[in-house]
Amino acid sequence: MPTALDFRTRPGAPPANFGTNGGTRPPAPAENGFRLLAHLPPGGGWTSLAEHRTRYPAPPAATSRPLTALIDEIERAGLRGRGGAGFPTATKMRSVASGRARPIVVANATEGEPASYKDKLLATVQPHLIIDGALYAAAAVGADQVLIGVDRTAPAAVAALRRALDERARVERSGVTVQVVETPPGYVSGEESALVHFLNGGAALPTASPPRPFERGVAKRPTLVNNVETLAHVAQIATRGATWFRSAGSPDEPGTMLVSVSGAVARAGVAEVALGTPLARIIEQACPTTPAAAALVGGFFGTWVPASGFSAPLSRAGLTPLGAAPGAGVLIVLPEGACGLAETAAVLRWYAAEGAGQCGPCAFGLPALAAEAAALAHGPVPAQGLGRLQRWGGEIEGRGACKHPDGAVRLLRSALRIFAADADAHLHRRPCRGSLGGRVIPVPGPRR
Ligand code: SF4
Repeated sequence: MPTALDFRTRPGAPPANFGTNGGTRPPAPAENGFRLLAHLPPGGGWTSLAEHRTRYPAPPAATSRPLTALIDEIERAGLRGRGGAGFPTATKMRSVASGRARPIVVANATEGEPASYKDKLLATVQPHLIIDGALYAAAAVGADQVLIGVDRTAPAAVAALRRALDERARVERSGVTVQVVETPPGYVSGEESALVHFLNGGAALPTASPPRPFERGVAKRPTLVNNVETLAHVAQIATRGATWFRSAGSPDEPGTMLVSVSGAVARAGVAEVALGTPLARIIEQACPTTPAAAALVGGFFGTWVPASGFSAPLSRAGLTPLGAAPGAGVLIVLPEGACGLAETAAVLRWYAAEGAGQCGPCAFGLPALAAEAAALAHGPVPAQGLGRLQRWGGEIEGRGACKHPDGAVRLLRSALRIFAADADAHLHRRPCRGSLGGRVIPVPGPRR
């Protein structure tokens, strides 16, 4: 199981409380600066409900009337979704709460990004924080049902969530039905509309046509789909308040974020860092095994950033000038001497295998793109140079029913930009030695 790294920056503490203790419980001090990953048993493992309740009061019972004061508090906190898109959480809640039917909450722990394991870790070690967050979200929008979608190939996370629900069934009544639903593995399975489609009894494939889940989702009811890390932050904001939440991070992008760090580092794992922490500091704390040449920021759905850009802060504003974004919080460190083109080609092969193939860009575009990128990386070099890669990228972008093909094009473009000198060398001489060695990025095989 991935481990929680013991580094992060120090946030502060204080007020606001929507829990059942009526707002009188002082917030527990964050242990060494951790928030979501505070108070974990040494060596990882389980946080029991009894232990959890010493720090967090039980959420209030949900009624059909939305708890708009909680949505206001989440808006003041400035929380954005931690599943990748970074959409403002309160805005999403307001849309769902204003629907005509009683809403449903879906906690998304599917974590289809292959290099991300923060949601699985959080579900395994802090299931009660996630469930509390889902119950607060239910109270906020007036929902009476919560479904927690979790990848069926993540047994520790599934078991921890089920065990947490069993524990609650014996001692707590929330008035909200909470169920764990095991989902098929794969990136597209976790896409919001695909998850809703699956929960409605269909295949776990994205649906392009309206209505969107917030209007008419699970059981035709307005559906709030939130990533589980987002919900854990919701629980903390509900118990400790917006001011406390904003005491970490930057004014524009407050709070902490879980980051999955991997690649050429001695301490791969999940770190909790304040938004705005420089990439260099996060990478340094994970102990690079050799000098780093670049990092894939945002994971398979992210962007290559050269080492010269590591002073950039981990935030949307900080990474925009580099064409990158925090995404779901993934950093894969590429060492000097490795071939970024070969790594990119391997990830593009994964994209081609992982797409659902129900749209043209996935069925035809991605396999062609992956084959051309592999030729550039390993030879024989494409006779058309980079022309076809660039043209095909333009033809694929924005043409899928979901963002899967766009992720491949973004990754490819950043590789051609950051590793331009390597691409030139490959085209005019031959592939470098780095392309012959093993890959730094572990690319999973087809999961369908
Ligand atoms: S773009 Fe690909 S993954 Fe997305 S809906 Fe179409 S076929 Fe499925």
